[in-house]
Amino acid sequence: MSMNMVQYPVRPPSYKRYAVAITSVGLALLLKSFFVPFIEVESPFLIFFSTVVISAWYGGFEPGILATVLSALLADYFFMQPYYSVTTDPNQLFRIFLFMGEGLVISGLSHTLRRSRDRLVEENLLRRQKEIELAESEERFRLLVEAVPEYAIFALDTAGYIASWNFGAERLKGYRADEIVGKHFSLLYTETDVIQNRPQTILQDATQHGVYTEEGWRVRKDGSQFLAHVVITALKKEGKLCGFSKITRDVTENRASEAEIRRLNAELEQRVLERTAQLSETNKQLEAFTYTVSHDLRAPVRAAQGLSQILMEEYKDRLDEEGQDYLQRICKATNRMEELIQDLLTYSKLSNADLQLRAIDLNGVVEESLIQLQMEIEERAAKINVQKPLLTVEGYRPILIQIVINLLTNAMKYVTPGETPQITIRTERRSDWVRLWVEDKGIGIAPQYREKIFKVFERLDNNYPGTGIGLAIVSRGIERLNGKVGVESEVGEGSRFWVELPEAL
Ligand code: ADP
Repeated sequence: MSMNMVQYPVRPPSYKRYAVAITSVGLALLLKSFFVPFIEVESPFLIFFSTVVISAWYGGFEPGILATVLSALLADYFFMQPYYSVTTDPNQLFRIFLFMGEGLVISGLSHTLRRSRDRLVEENLLRRQKEIELAESEERFRLLVEAVPEYAIFALDTAGYIASWNFGAERLKGYRADEIVGKHFSLLYTETDVIQNRPQTILQDATQHGVYTEEGWRVRKDGSQFLAHVVITALKKEGKLCGFSKITRDVTENRASEAEIRRLNAELEQRVLERTAQLSETNKQLEAFTYTVSHDLRAPVRAAQGLSQILMEEYKDRLDEEGQDYLQRICKATNRMEELIQDLLTYSKLSNADLQLRAIDLNGVVEESLIQLQMEIEERAAKINVQKPLLTVEGYRPILIQIVINLLTNAMKYVTPGETPQITIRTERRSDWVRLWVEDKGIGIAPQYREKIFKVFERLDNNYPGTGIGLAIVSRGIERLNGKVGVESEVGEGSRFWVELPEAL
């Protein structure tokens, strides 16, 4: 609430208003008693008129009436014949009646006059109050605007001459208010902008559209430049242009930071690209190395395998039991070595193969895999349930067969000794993808190993034979087909391996 409150006139309390009426009548009575001897004509109401006027003026209508009635009674009693008694003469009564009528009119008029005067005073005071409030609010707003440090806020007249200048403007542009107020705002623009008549164009634009916003270079008092974000608003009063407000913010640093962030991002992306290229080059070299080594190891291993076979067949009789046992072990080791080399070769070949992806019917893939695994299936008496028909995917047949064979081999292998493997193969549509499931009821996998087992040489249980490359081949193969692979499993609950590929339409 404003501190500068206007004081409204207060009407006197009732008792005072009536007291004034009674007192004024009393005084009139005294005064009249004093003057009567000097007045020649009989005029009973003389002086009493003034009491009616005073009472009505001061107290309003009712005290005016009271003064009229009292005056009439007193005038009748003291100053009309017969004196000191109430008259019954119709002429005198008519005079009294006339006086009372006049009193009524005076009271009414003076009351109305008083009311209009009071209303006028009140209206004036109200206006004054509004003016004070407006001035205060303007002052508050001015102080607020002047104190804003981050924004240059200033006003222009219709021709573009600066009319006000806040603290933020002084901070941003370097001019003090007394130096710049009254100058044209084009002073703040670059020379090129001024030559191109930009300041004027901007004002025209703001006038036309109400608001004009832009980002551009502006000049400080010391000649240095900054990138400004500017909002110019046309100020209109009753539809007529009366000036412009201009709010400017320095965005040089923001834009610089944004540019720096963009540069760093681009640099980072470039580095990631380079690093990825380096990594894939190293990977390729490693795979080539694996391939060569595996390939070259094959011949000596085969030689060892062949020679130990010959030894077994042709020199068995000349070896004692211990010698035969050693020879057996050499055979086993070389067979394992051969398997390992074969797996490594498959793995590295996967990386090099140039693939043409096409629609592959998974029914055919599974059938072919089952044919290739027939011996093992029979040996283990595995029960394999294929939920036909299987769906068709985008893929590469040899890789898909390899994947299914590896998953099936594991599903048959990782069961509690003595138990029959039970396997289900099925497909499932997941929006645009097809998921092929190979589910077993075997020993299961603890959750913490679900990702690790897809890496080369990661094995969980050495009681089961294997090279630790089978799932790495699955993972690499599915990666080459742009698909996904995963497993759901709990120890003792069986495993549900899946691969996902785009559905072929
Ligand atoms: P390998 O079977 O030659 O050891 P894999 O890469 O095929 O190598 O599998 C890695 C490991 O994942 C296995 O050693 C085994 O511990 C675990 N594993 C794979 N498939 C299954 C499965 N169906 N059930 C339980 N464990 C499995």
